[in-house]
Amino acid sequence: MLTPPEEDTMDPSRIAARLLAALLALFAALTVQIPSSAVAASPFPKAAGPRQGPLFEVTLELADRSRISALAGFDVTRIKGETVLVSATKAEVAALRRAGFAIREVRAKEERRRGKASGRPGWSWDQFHDHAQVTTFIQDLAARFPQLVRVESMGRSVEGRELWAVKITDNPDQQEVEPEVRFAANIHGDEVVGVEMILRFMDQLTRYYGRSRRVTALVDSTELWFVPMWNPDGNDAGSRYNANGYDLNRVFPDEADSVPSNLLLGPPRDLSALDAEAPEISAFMRFSERHRFVLGLSFHGGAVVTVYPWSTSPDGYSVYTPTPDDGLFIALSKTYASRHLPMRESSEFPGGFYNSANWYTVNACSQDWAYKVTGMFDLDIELSEQKWPSASSLRGHWAHNQAAMLALAEASRWGIHGVVTDSVTGRPVSASVKVEGYDHLTFTDPDLGDYHRPLQPGTYTLLVSAPGYATREVANVAVFGAAPTRLDVTLEPVSARPAYKIDFRPADGVVLEGFEVDNGRVFGPRGNGLSYGWDAAPCLDSRRHLFSQDASFDAFADMQGCAGRVWELAVPNGSYRVRLVAGDAAEESSSAVRISVEDGLFAAGTTAASRWAEGSVLVTVADGRLTLRNAPRATRNALCAVEVIREDARSGAGRAARPLSLPSRRSVGGLPGPSLPAMR
Ligand SMILES: [Zn+2]
Repeated sequence: MLTPPEEDTMDPSRIAARLLAALLALFAALTVQIPSSAVAASPFPKAAGPRQGPLFEVTLELADRSRISALAGFDVTRIKGETVLVSATKAEVAALRRAGFAIREVRAKEERRRGKASGRPGWSWDQFHDHAQVTTFIQDLAARFPQLVRVESMGRSVEGRELWAVKITDNPDQQEVEPEVRFAANIHGDEVVGVEMILRFMDQLTRYYGRSRRVTALVDSTELWFVPMWNPDGNDAGSRYNANGYDLNRVFPDEADSVPSNLLLGPPRDLSALDAEAPEISAFMRFSERHRFVLGLSFHGGAVVTVYPWSTSPDGYSVYTPTPDDGLFIALSKTYASRHLPMRESSEFPGGFYNSANWYTVNACSQDWAYKVTGMFDLDIELSEQKWPSASSLRGHWAHNQAAMLALAEASRWGIHGVVTDSVTGRPVSASVKVEGYDHLTFTDPDLGDYHRPLQPGTYTLLVSAPGYATREVANVAVFGAAPTRLDVTLEPVSARPAYKIDFRPADGVVLEGFEVDNGRVFGPRGNGLSYGWDAAPCLDSRRHLFSQDASFDAFADMQGCAGRVWELAVPNGSYRVRLVAGDAAEESSSAVRISVEDGLFAAGTTAASRWAEGSVLVTVADGRLTLRNAPRATRNALCAVEVIREDARSGAGRAARPLSLPSRRSVGGLPGPSLPAMR
């Protein structure tokens, strides 16, 4: 488990050994004969498919709940009590039988039939629309409302259909400091009610803009994006899957993807497998990464419930798995479900909402990816028991959903909003914003530097950081009700405010952007202009936590485990703010973190639900060295990262702890914020 630090990675004998190992591996690879007819293995999790040929809907009874995890590789589409629905090929039906499941029914999947248009000429809301009709509708909308509507294509489906994305906002050609909300439907091609709900919602927004105060306020203050038909080939075929047979909601990159896996710090990811097999998803990922969506509504069918992440779980197949934002996700889910009559009155899901992983495990799905990688808050909204119901039910569905859609879009104004700029140049900064106590990052939009962090009412401390800048803490930021709090932040570049970020990890070659690395060497010059290190070799370890967004949190020096117990950094004498992150991603039990920083103390607790302690200590250095050591009564000092920020440097006088007075805009930092249009 614990590995001692590697003393010298440039040792010639080690290099020779590695070269030899690499050559042997290459030789082995070349001598394995690969038959030319071999079918390439799917690059995605087993549940994703591909599934070709006749498909069946299997209904099985789960007599023994403990057997539920045996369903992990299958495409489960519904669990209701003990009854499970699985979408399966012939071979998978046989595999389910072999696994001993009590199969009640195996039904060939029927061709879905599009509802006939009513006799009236022109557009009808009493039918399901196909891709060509959706295309006509949105092009017509853009032509009729050029002051509000823009249409773009995210890319093309396997069969070459355009993947439309529609933008509705005031000043649609202008970047504004506004939250972005994304609606999407039909990732499962046979779940079609959401397509019609999105078309009707877009119709209402444009029709009532300037006439309804509420619609006008939403369109003026929000950038609304719509992906009405995410899987047009599946829609055309009446199939859950895309034209290559993949379940598109099981192919998103998961934790094995890359280190670190977030937009701000992540290296460019290899999307070639997705481009080849599921271009609907790689196009959507690139589209999502061009934006900074705050909220997402992803429409499905086959049940009536709003589900929130996590969808996957490290703890088992059907286990409640909360995100750090569990309370917020529940509040957002309630915002939808409480306005949707059948959802609210559900006997299956109390209140009409449910934790996704608690229902059943879905790996590699869009909502986990959205929360973890893009930072947004995405809900899966199941709109109808029947995936493709009778078209005559559409008016009823619209009556149930329209107020809920409007209210959830408005929830993008909850919480704290502002812009992050460079204190010297005034330019927007690509930064991450974190709320202390919530292990979750929100990212600024690099074009304007704006961020939008939904929060429930309360008082929060914000941590704003970016490579090359001193992290800024802003305490006592109040959120009142559903009204937005504006907080602009300037960050000081390390040229103006000396700050050193050190990341502790085994010698694995990883150097995170903006960090210096400590691989456990004894104190000395590190060749990067800094001198730091340990009294003796410490234990170092690295985890890959399923849900961590921040790679500096995934590795640590265990200050109590081995010989190394004291860490020092040479700094000019003066006063410093020292930020510490401590915790072990894999630690299931509670622990007490207690680290002395000079004559100050960093003391905090970690729990299984909140595995890292984070905070800062103000200290004065008088002997040329900042010193960290174990304090009495510490149970686990797993030191992940340290940031040392000079406090008595020349610029940046305004440390922010002033009480917030609304509604005036608040800026923190050395310079006032740039003049940008205020959020309305
Ligand atoms: Zn679905």
